[in-house]
Amino acid sequence: MLKRCGRRLLLALAGALLACLLVLTADPPPPPGGAPRPAEGHPRPPAEPLAPHDVFIAVKTTKKFHRARLDLLLETWISRHKEMTFIFTDGEDEALARRTGNVVNTNCSAAHSRQALSCKMAVEYDRFIDSGRKWFCHVDDDNYVNVRALLRLLASYPHTQDVYIGKPSLDRPIQATERVSENKMRPVHFWFATGGAGFCISRGLALKMSPWASGGHFMSTAERIRLPDDCTIGYIVEALLGVPLIRSGLFHSHLENLQQVPASELHEQVTLSYGMFENKRNAVHVKGPFSVEADPSRFRSIHCHLYPDTPWCPRTAIF
Ligand code: UDP
Ligand code: MN
Repeated sequence: MLKRCGRRLLLALAGALLACLLVLTADPPPPPGGAPRPAEGHPRPPAEPLAPHDVFIAVKTTKKFHRARLDLLLETWISRHKEMTFIFTDGEDEALARRTGNVVNTNCSAAHSRQALSCKMAVEYDRFIDSGRKWFCHVDDDNYVNVRALLRLLASYPHTQDVYIGKPSLDRPIQATERVSENKMRPVHFWFATGGAGFCISRGLALKMSPWASGGHFMSTAERIRLPDDCTIGYIVEALLGVPLIRSGLFHSHLENLQQVPASELHEQVTLSYGMFENKRNAVHVKGPFSVEADPSRFRSIHCHLYPDTPWCPRTAIF
């Protein structure tokens, strides 16, 4: 089952299906509103200091990945940032609840369908609004979040303004069709940040999204364009509210070649990932302290690189 816009586009490109829904144009029109885009979402001088409880990081997972993926995150980056991190899943797990307090059972279906994933995003959004925090960030359970870099980046934007920051998975706006009434469809184009690299939204913007994102509205908005959860966020922000995505090269998914992330710049990267890319295993290239066999995702090695005082990191490690 397809669940990301980028995948859908690749298939559409291959001419497999959805020709009526998604079409790439060779010459993309300017973004909605024509606003100039900051070239890079890199940190600027701080606009406001941020404390850990100002940020809400939603980690999307599913019961079958609790042991396979989430335990690694709990051992690494989440262990240092429990107060910021909320885990959104679809099944009860006492062992998980014992390890961390912030587990939300969304009661969404565990299927990997567009609807099930939108259901989780809807719960993430509502919980964020209820939390009163300044920033909402969404990541997948195969993302490493470098929280210090994340805080530096977010602190350089005012949370009361409209901020949507992440990495587009495409190099042009997505072309979709929105249903405007019972029997009327019209073309729409917008940029979106790929969910697999993580993205963040300021509270100011999140509040404006409410008519299309709160309560049951997120699901019906997603149905209006029949696209996955991350695309629906882009649709609400760019197409409906006219707020441009700030593209950042500091967010990374496994749909890009992670070997290209320079080890010397790990401290600045906001998110990392691991998985498959063009049918090959894909992970960040970082030397030690753990071998690729012992640490295939490289997350343990990355964590020791960023937090060398961690008790299980070898003391003798030289980076
Ligand atoms: N996921 C989910 N339900 C499922 C399968 C996956 O919520 O049935 C979540 C998974 O935990 C991850 C995200 O969706 O956070 C993306 O899944 P995956 O990494 O397997 O797919 P891809 O990155 O290839 O889209
Ligand atoms: Mn993934």
